[in-house]
Amino acid sequence: MTRLIDGKAMAANLRASAARAVSGLGFKPGLAVVLVGEDPASAVYVRNKGKATIEAGLNSFEHKLPEDVSETKLLSLIELLNNDNTVDGILVQLPLPAHINAERVLNAINPDKDVDGFHPTNVGRLWTGAPTLAPCTPTGCMRMIRSVVQKIAGKEAIIVGRSNIVGKPMAAMLLAESATVSITHSQTIDLRERCRTADILIAAVGRPEMIRGDWIKPSAVVIDVGINRVSKEDGKSRLVGDVAFEEAVGRVQAITPVPGGVGPMTIACLIENAVRAACIRRAHPIPEM
Ligand code: NDP
Repeated sequence: MTRLIDGKAMAANLRASAARAVSGLGFKPGLAVVLVGEDPASAVYVRNKGKATIEAGLNSFEHKLPEDVSETKLLSLIELLNNDNTVDGILVQLPLPAHINAERVLNAINPDKDVDGFHPTNVGRLWTGAPTLAPCTPTGCMRMIRSVVQKIAGKEAIIVGRSNIVGKPMAAMLLAESATVSITHSQTIDLRERCRTADILIAAVGRPEMIRGDWIKPSAVVIDVGINRVSKEDGKSRLVGDVAFEEAVGRVQAITPVPGGVGPMTIACLIENAVRAACIRRAHPIPEM
């Protein structure tokens, strides 16, 4: 029988644990979120992050800038937040408008406040095995994998997708736990056969239900990062992952649902990172979460 990895429940536990940790700190960590423009999906993410931040007992600082804000103005805000002692974590919601160089903006964030773990310093720390603030989505995926896989070492891990925010850091984390890791992408030859070799299959593509049930071996653990909105016949829409869930469920060992899988864990790991960043910056021992 397939085990459903309940990201919603795991995230609720992690957020509650972070809230308990915060109440014992003796100070209130602060997380600043910067949103540029009016993209509705980004606005929902920012709202959910703000809500989770406050619920865990942190200070939430939201900065909303107009779509046409200049890069210079945005960089000045980052500088302000870097120097603000009440701010322990800074997150710039992506994507940014085309006229802004996202790389320049992300690189301007103080690495010690980089709760998304996208700064090159933190990327380097992750790949070299140094303590770091690691990207939230793959961190959540690792927690979910650990909840069903007793020994990751030696497992064949196939990652579909090579983005800087999911695929690549996911590879670094699985490698650090001694999985044998392959990263696949749009130029990979015979993706289906490669997926069939996976003990741990991570789908981070952004293509609705691209990975079919018969691409996955029955003993596999499947982490579906994809969030794709598709239209239904009644004109409404629904969210699906990158894996054909109905074909995979009942066939594989364990799988994350969409919605209710990776998404909620990403936000919970953001809170965890903000607490960790606050403790490191203030030379306070990092609590167990
Ligand atoms: P990107 O668009 O940055 O990367 C997609 C990757 O998929 C690329 O490496 C691309 O290959 C690869 N790809 C595209 N088409 C194919 C194909 N036909 N066969 C094999 N590989 C393919 O996406 P992200 O990594 O940012 O996001 C991936 C998905 O995860 C999206 O659905 C996104 O919404 C979701 N997501 C969910 C999060 C969560 O919290 N649950 C957080 C972040 C993302 P190439 O490099 O060759 O172009």
